[in-house]
This record gives sequence, C-alpha cells and structure tokens, in this order.
Amino acid sequence: MGPDTRTESDPTDDEPREECGVFGAWAPGEDVAKLAYYGLYALQHRGQEAAGIAVSDGRRMVVFKDLGLVSQVFDEQTLSSLKGHIAIGHCRYSTTGSTTWENAQPTFRTTATGSGIALGHNGNLVNTAELRDEVAALVDEPASGRSHIRSSTDSDLVTELMAATAADIGVEEAAMRLLPRLRGAFSLVFGDEQTLYAARDRHGVRPLVLGRLERGWVVASETAALDIVGASMVREVEPGELLAIDADGMRSSRFAAPEPKGCVFEYVYLARPDTTIAGRSVHSTRVDIGKRLAHEHPVEADLVIPTPESGTPAAIGYAQQSGIPYGQGLVKNAYVGRTFIQPSQTIRQLGIRLKLNPLREVIRGKRLVVVDDSIVRGNTQRALVRMLREAGALEVHVRIASPPVRWPCFYGIDFATRAELVASGIDTEGVRRSIGADSLGYVSLEGLIAASEQPRTRLCSACFDGEYPIPLPEEARLGKHLLEPVPVDVSGAASGDPGPVSVGPGAALDRP
Ligand code: SF4
Repeated sequence: MGPDTRTESDPTDDEPREECGVFGAWAPGEDVAKLAYYGLYALQHRGQEAAGIAVSDGRRMVVFKDLGLVSQVFDEQTLSSLKGHIAIGHCRYSTTGSTTWENAQPTFRTTATGSGIALGHNGNLVNTAELRDEVAALVDEPASGRSHIRSSTDSDLVTELMAATAADIGVEEAAMRLLPRLRGAFSLVFGDEQTLYAARDRHGVRPLVLGRLERGWVVASETAALDIVGASMVREVEPGELLAIDADGMRSSRFAAPEPKGCVFEYVYLARPDTTIAGRSVHSTRVDIGKRLAHEHPVEADLVIPTPESGTPAAIGYAQQSGIPYGQGLVKNAYVGRTFIQPSQTIRQLGIRLKLNPLREVIRGKRLVVVDDSIVRGNTQRALVRMLREAGALEVHVRIASPPVRWPCFYGIDFATRAELVASGIDTEGVRRSIGADSLGYVSLEGLIAASEQPRTRLCSACFDGEYPIPLPEEARLGKHLLEPVPVDVSGAASGDPGPVSVGPGAALDRP
C-alpha cells in the first residue's frame, strides 16, 4: 500500500508504521561509518523519523544522531569524522515514546568505569513498566552516578540496565543476564569500544541477519542491507541468540530457548521485496499471495492495477492467476517520505493526490481490480476509490493481500488503536460500503501463511486473529507513551535535558 490511513487529509501520515531498522558492522580497515550509512539507507523504509550511528575505534565511542531521514542527518563531513572499526546504526519510527531528539537511537550510556555502551533496537517490549521500575530502583544507588532516565523509550531502559552491571561483569555477561528478562520483540545491535553484539528475542519476531565482509562482519534488519554494502548472507541471528564479534572472532551464546514467532506482516508490507526471510523471497511471497487472492476472490474485470509500491507484486500475481491484463494506473510520488512540514490547507485538501496520481487514459472506461497490501483505517482506500471513479473507472474492485487487520500490534508496529481499525467492528461488506468499492476481497490467513512457506506455529499473526504469542501485561495496553512524562531524574535536570548522550572521552558530535 502504502496508503492506508492515518488521516485522509495527511497523505504523509497514513501507513502502518514500520518499527525501526538496525545495522552493525565490525570491520577493521573499512570505513564503517559509511557502511552503516548505506546500510541504514537500505533500511530507511523501516523508520523515517530519526537516524543515528555510533562508531568506536577501540578506545572511544562517538554517537551522532538526529531527527530526519538518513540522508538528512548525515553528510560527508559528519561521516568522515566518525572513525573506527565498529559501527552501530539505527533508523527509527517511534513505537515507544515520542518523536524527539532524546528518543533517537543509538541510545548511549557510560558504565561506572567510563566505557560506553551504544544500542539500537527494533521491536517493542511488553514489560517496559517492569523495566522502568528496575531503572527507578537504581536511583537508590546514587553512587552509580548513571541513574538518569533521559528518554522515554524501552530501548533506553535496556541500555541503562545493561550499563548498570557491565562495569563489574562485562557487557557480554551483563547482556546474558538481562536479555532473558526482556519480554516482547527485540532485535538489538549494540556495542562497547571493543565488541559488536547482536541479539534477537526468543520468538524472533523481528528479523535480524548476519553477513560476511571480506574484512569483517555485518548485522542488519534485512538481507537487502547486506546486499547493498556488499556483504554475503551468512545466516539469520537465531531467536534467543547473542552474537559477540571482536578481535577474537565471533562467539554465539544462547540466552533463551528459541520459540519462533516471526511477524507475518513483514511479508505483507514491512520488509523490502528484495529481502529474504527464512529463506523465502519477500517478492515471491507477495506474488504468491496475489495468486491466492485471485483464486479466493475472482472477479470479471479489464485491468489489474497495484497501489504502488507495496501492492505491486501481489497485483502481478493476481493478474497472472486471473488472466486479466496488468497495468500501471497510479503513479506514486517516489519522493514522499516522512515530512515534518505540515501541508497547507490547499495542499491538505488534495489529500491522497500528494502521494498517488491516477493515469486517466489508462483508467478511463475500465473495470478495475485494485490490489493493495492491507487496509488499516480505510481512509486512504476510500479516497483512492473515489479518485479512480473520478478518473473514469467504470467499476473498482479492491483486493487486499492480507486478511482484515482487527487487532493492534504490541511487538513493534504502530497500526492504530482497535477502535480506529476499520475492520475491527464490521464485516467485509461493511468495509466495502465504507470505502465505496464495487467489491472487496481479502486473502485468507491460511492463504497468507501458505504463501510464506512457514509453518503457522512459527509465525505471529496476532493483528489478524488476536492470538498474541507473547502474553501482554496490562501496561502494554497503555501504548507507546507509557514512559512519558519522564518519571525519574536523579540529577534534577529538566526532563527535556538530553544529557551527555554521545561519547567516549571528548566526543561532542551530537547536535540536539
Ligand atoms: S501483531 Fe501483526 S504486525 Fe505485530 S508482530 Fe504480530 S503479525 Fe507482526
């Protein structure tokens, strides 16, 4: 899709929000800051609100981060000042906490011995309140000098808790003790001055892969990021596994027994089509979903068009299976990413057209099948159907390459609240009427799972069926702003004080 639906009037704010992208490199002799930059550039679709890179040269660690797209946050000069052989990169959409500079990642803490820990997190924890209480308890140990919750993210709490014990037992052991206590979804890339670490929750909800460079190692959210930095795929980081990479080589440890529950929505929308998950190409999966959709919901029509870009593979599959010609009926403005500029009233009224514009000569007089990846709130599909009719379509049949989204996600995707999900209270006929289509068909959950070629037992599909594989405490239902306002501040500084977020000794590259 892209365009499903925050508000119809703000086409830059209308999609299920990807969680985040993480990237790490351990590569002596390589320009790791640039590796991280291009890795994050490849993962930009996973988070467009903020970006950051931490680099260590073995003695000190420097963090640079800011709000904005990767290409807006970094320039040649900044990257060339980030020298070292370890990099930790992150691009962010906020699944916990607001869009503020303090909440950008990598998060950073110094331990009692003065070394640093930088951490990037993809996913969302469900025991954040519990972790917040643990961090608050550290306040009772002022000698530690670190007890200061600077941001409002679960990721920041993890960094704080790791730093609390790392001085005594080392980062690796601190991680081995902390990670089993984190509940929810986490693909983590973190490091100190000497070592790069990568860890994935025992359910492997979010992807994380390991790649090999000629002179080092890379970890990334998606295989597409490995391709783009010239790394070869080695394997996925296993659910429940901690990897440590340093001058002694790579070590693997298990911190929890694996119980895979990969996010099925990665196949539908989140991951890039050129990524591979569990050995299955995301593009091929989407084409297969389209074929199943055609089989499950056939219709007589003249032309199959996708809602670009994420509806494209499923539309190809629908056309192949149905025999109805495939065409491009909508042009996407490829340069609409997250913008922080509010549209003017005049622009706002154009709504969806900021993002999608119809090719009238293709559409006029046709019975259309429009294939989209998902419907969340329904506002965008409503605007789309209206726009296609205005452009001369005789009929508009909407086909959706996922089942109805009826439940919120607590593991790192920000859809909407249950009340805002158009399919949560009404049946398919009700949604069809709501968006004004001539017909509407969703692929079945069985069809989607079959297309992924993974056993159902290894997948999370909670947003479709309400069966949450990781139990949810009540707190998780409080949503992404659970930690706001900042609850603890032993330094007495104002809660908006970003604190000394960068560094190892002497570094001062952050710009608030
Ligand atoms: S609830 Fe949906 S989006 Fe969230 S992890 Fe599960 S399948 Fe993915």
